[in-house]
Amino acid sequence: MRFLVTIVVCLTLPLAAAGRKSLSMSFIDTEGGQATLLVGPSGESLLIDAGFPGNGGRDAGRIVAAAQKAGLKKIDYLLVTHYHLDHVGGVPEFAARFPVGTVIDHGDNTETTKQGQALEEAYRKVIASGVKRLSVKPGDVLGLKDMRVEVVTARGERIRKPVQGGGQRNPLCAPAAGKDPDPSENARSIGVVITFGRFRFVDLGDLTWNKELEIACPDHMIGPVDLYLTTHHGLDLSNAPQMVHGLKPRVAIMNNGARKGGSPAAWKVVSASPGLEDLWQLHYSLAGGQDANVAPDRIANLEEKCQGFGLEVEAQRDGAFTVKNLRNGNSRNYKR
Ligand SMILES: [Zn+2]
Repeated sequence: MRFLVTIVVCLTLPLAAAGRKSLSMSFIDTEGGQATLLVGPSGESLLIDAGFPGNGGRDAGRIVAAAQKAGLKKIDYLLVTHYHLDHVGGVPEFAARFPVGTVIDHGDNTETTKQGQALEEAYRKVIASGVKRLSVKPGDVLGLKDMRVEVVTARGERIRKPVQGGGQRNPLCAPAAGKDPDPSENARSIGVVITFGRFRFVDLGDLTWNKELEIACPDHMIGPVDLYLTTHHGLDLSNAPQMVHGLKPRVAIMNNGARKGGSPAAWKVVSASPGLEDLWQLHYSLAGGQDANVAPDRIANLEEKCQGFGLEVEAQRDGAFTVKNLRNGNSRNYKR
């Protein structure tokens, strides 16, 4: 009987009380949006974006499930990279179902389209309901208990000095060709470098090509990372080789949907990155076909009509980490 009681208590204890030492990251499937949940050893949580609204509360429900699985009662920080449907759109539905402490954003939405205004209005209602708001700019460092979050881009601006570990001259820059200017919210995405001990993770939201070049050239302001969340769902409007190859990620995760992101050209840039050990994908990319998809055991969802499987990462302070596919349990450890 005592044995049974012990098991029940352990299952209901939050992560911190369970003696966790690692940073747990959930890459939640939002069918081509973004929702990334980070939980530190103390139980402190940071959610980056909340996927799409609608679809019967699909994305909010998946995030709630991931938060509950991590033993959370509240999201301490919810960072909104930018005001697009697939990132901020799910925030109101999520916040209605799960407590949020502070939202972090880049300031006001500058898109005046009907959809842009509706997103802004719904987001403002969340703040008005009593959630704290923190607007950040490049160079800001959020000293969370468990992780260091450095803002490298926001509101179309960028850091002028490299972050710790960055600043290398980038040999790929000489012929770097830009693309047409992007006046959208994508170019205003918050980009963050998150450090946990020696482990470094970068998430640049949907930052587009020219803005990537601004922080990758002539010196790479970020430098090598362990884990790279492919920018903009792996679309080729983003993922300039000057940025990606200068990050030299050991592992990349692509947050694509079946028909969103996962562009063959971007897939090839990421796959060819020097030192890359593995790319993992949230979905099989229909555009990628035979040539631009990884092996099925590193893809969380193989069917277009999927069950919303995610990928999980456990990172240690010494920089070692494990990636796990929640569809089939396939996992790989990346030693220091
Ligand atoms: Zn997006």
